[in-house]
Amino acid sequence: MGPEKKEARLRAGYEDSYDEAVADFEAFRRQTCERLASQWSDPPGKAKPRPCPACGKAARVRKYGVERRIVTRFGEVSAKRNYHVCSCGHGFYPKDEELGFDEDNLSRDVLARVLDFVVSDTFEASRERLRLHHGIELSETKLRHLFERQSAPLADREKPCPVAPLPLTKANAHQPVVIECDGSMVRQTRGFGEVKLFGVQVLGETKRVFLAEAKDKDRFEAQLFESPGFEKLSKREVLWIGDGQPYNWGLKRRLCPQARELVDFYHVMEHAHQAAKALFGDGDACADLYARRVSRLLLSGEIETLFDELKACIPYQPRTKAGKKEEAVLRPLLKYLKGNRNRLDYKGFRERGWPMGSGAIESAHKWVIQKRMKQAGMCWSPRNAQRMATLRALRASVGIERFAEMLEQANRMAA
Ligand SMILES: [Zn+2]
Repeated sequence: MGPEKKEARLRAGYEDSYDEAVADFEAFRRQTCERLASQWSDPPGKAKPRPCPACGKAARVRKYGVERRIVTRFGEVSAKRNYHVCSCGHGFYPKDEELGFDEDNLSRDVLARVLDFVVSDTFEASRERLRLHHGIELSETKLRHLFERQSAPLADREKPCPVAPLPLTKANAHQPVVIECDGSMVRQTRGFGEVKLFGVQVLGETKRVFLAEAKDKDRFEAQLFESPGFEKLSKREVLWIGDGQPYNWGLKRRLCPQARELVDFYHVMEHAHQAAKALFGDGDACADLYARRVSRLLLSGEIETLFDELKACIPYQPRTKAGKKEEAVLRPLLKYLKGNRNRLDYKGFRERGWPMGSGAIESAHKWVIQKRMKQAGMCWSPRNAQRMATLRALRASVGIERFAEMLEQANRMAA
């Protein structure tokens, strides 16, 4: 027998045995669904009246064997329950109440999967992936509806919102806590709007807790206050690193007044590079040298020298066509740096081995926010932007499995 023929025979053997295993498995799934169907159904035949949940009187069966289809990980289960109607007018299914079915008609594990999918990808992709991975058929409309309902506590200001605990423990009490913030623009119905992402991390540890704010600053602050472990922050060394926007520092003063402030080094250098380009022209070697000089003065703590040198350069800026001195570049840079004068201690931070920039939070922005919220053609209502950002931040903080549990908990609390 030639090698090709041999391979074909082996392959056929493999296919046969695998197909057989699949058939066995499918049969087992069907049996499981049938067993669940009988457990979740009222027994066939005459049924006695049941006490009405509204008034307590005996309510008779109005209709026998009404079907309810529950999607489980084994397939669809068809439960047949009796519908009772009371003389007071109240109608109910005793079996539904006994089993705690809700209007979503999904088993808990399927619901957890659905939520994981829709938070990870578009509704359309979620529908396809649920079918491929789990053989679960749910329409896009149904997925949207499930998402709306299950995440309602996050969209409703009055409802308690699940919050991830901050990673502060006794064991890491000697290490400083780093709070970083960065924003990125997400397309919304009213134009582009900023979604801010905050990361809280103990220096040297990988665990990070994220909080996102898209629309509702008050809600966001309240959420941070409510984070389990927040009260421990006041006793810790905290490094608050932001992009220089005043919002950051106002928030810091209210939430964590003792924290040390630092403007993200890379944001400052971005400004410096822009100024250098404007001074010397894009691609000019002097532009690079100039930016490097700024960087060196910042890192060596010679902040006053930097201010003096920037100021001295202002008269040498290139002239515009109108013949006026173009001062629109260096002055704003100087103003930006002076406005953040007490937030430029890169020398001190470096000496202590502390981070100088929010590069970590910038990359987190990509996978926590942008991956789901900045896909082609997406446009979010402010309310939904806040909701999705909160969901993504929560999931990134607590992990996929805990995420479903926390949402379930939030829904129970909100009910
Ligand atoms: Zn009644």
